[in-house]
Amino acid sequence: MSEEKSFYIKTFGCQMNGHDSERMASLLTEQGYKPAAELDEANLVIFNSCSIRDKSEQKAYTSMGFLRKNGKKKNPNLKIGFAGCVAQQDREEVFRGAPHLDFVIGTDSIDQLPEIVHRVKNGEEKILQVGFDPANDYSIETKVTSGKSQALVNIMKGCDNFCSYCIVPFTRGREKSRQLQEVVQDVKRLVLGGVVEVTLLGQNVNSYGKSLGGKEAGASFPLLLRALQAMADDLDTRGITDPTGRSGKPRGLRQIRYTTSHPKDFDEEMIECHATLSRVVPHLHLPVQSGSGKILKRMKRYVPISLYIERLQILRERVRGIAISTDLIVGFPGEEEADFEATMKLVETIRYDNIFAYTYSPRPGTAALKFGDTVPEDVKKDRFNRLMNRQAEIQAELNRSRVGVVEQILVEGPSKSNPRMATGRTLGLRTVNFSLPEGALDPLQLQGKFIPVRIVDSNAFALKGEAQIL
Ligand code: SF4
Repeated sequence: MSEEKSFYIKTFGCQMNGHDSERMASLLTEQGYKPAAELDEANLVIFNSCSIRDKSEQKAYTSMGFLRKNGKKKNPNLKIGFAGCVAQQDREEVFRGAPHLDFVIGTDSIDQLPEIVHRVKNGEEKILQVGFDPANDYSIETKVTSGKSQALVNIMKGCDNFCSYCIVPFTRGREKSRQLQEVVQDVKRLVLGGVVEVTLLGQNVNSYGKSLGGKEAGASFPLLLRALQAMADDLDTRGITDPTGRSGKPRGLRQIRYTTSHPKDFDEEMIECHATLSRVVPHLHLPVQSGSGKILKRMKRYVPISLYIERLQILRERVRGIAISTDLIVGFPGEEEADFEATMKLVETIRYDNIFAYTYSPRPGTAALKFGDTVPEDVKKDRFNRLMNRQAEIQAELNRSRVGVVEQILVEGPSKSNPRMATGRTLGLRTVNFSLPEGALDPLQLQGKFIPVRIVDSNAFALKGEAQIL
């Protein structure tokens, strides 16, 4: 029989959802719950859903439906919750399709999870908690599982952009930022606890601080990056952290990542941050979505493509070797062959290190619904395949050029395909599986350490390497 207080969280979607799942896991751990290795070993299962595409929404509903048939029959103590953007969007409707559910919890109610679980355990049924927090400010403390070397740090929530295809401003509400000093102190606490890499999270991190009065009030994303760099420099200088890792002290904040940015807000000041702040990694994820101005206008995210290209060119001149990735939507309503060709041309021009491409699917409640879904599915698929094939060629060429280079890799653990090898990612987030010398610690023990790795082989999607010294 499964353990009395065990949980399993199945996460769909983006890093924001990953962060929410981690927060739920930490809150449950504080209540004495233990993570179960498999879904059917847990007494509490939560589906953290994503509504960004129809496919991801259906996946969450399908997984939950499976438990309806099997879960509660096998384990009468099983409690099932539904969280995330679909929960926020569909609200009580979720119960209609899934009457076996015990609770539905929205994106702004995560911190109420322990109380909700307690009520469910005490016999309350079908609890719905999907309100938005009415407070103007946003204050949380990041929670990470102890011993972790990487942390996702939410610096803001919601979004004010209202891109015409996107449901996020409705499922996560209007933009609110955490106080700058709160974030700095939060990160400092994590660093003193052993975290070496933070990823600052927000739907649109470049507009961080707007809800706090902006730059004039001392709150902007560049100011936050500078404050984090200064805090980490100070810890190193005073010997509280030790970048060498030899003294047994925390190693300090070595890498700052962030996601996601909007091209309209990626300006000279951000380029300056990348060029001058040593802890900001040389990687930029800047979703462009389309290479066609006409389509960008329909998406309500128009930035002249010439300006987008110019900024990335300046960035590359200032930060040699910086990796650049993007998101692209194929088959947006009204996309003609010429618009798609503009996207292909952009991909040729920038030569992205990575792209995340999707075919358009209409989402309920979004402004783009009024355009219909005009591009036939077979055309969408054909364009998607052409795009991905060309990108795979570009990636293969870029990765081939890395062979022979030695990179500092942060070890994430054993490689999935071969547990005797370790895995980590380059600064540009490319996966590297690498061998360790005879007699070295095993990959699990090396987790969280930086290791010099020589790249010896590559394909379009991953690199292979050999650790140099240990
Ligand atoms: S910037 Fe646009 S795509 Fe991103 S979350 Fe906001 S509305 Fe959605």
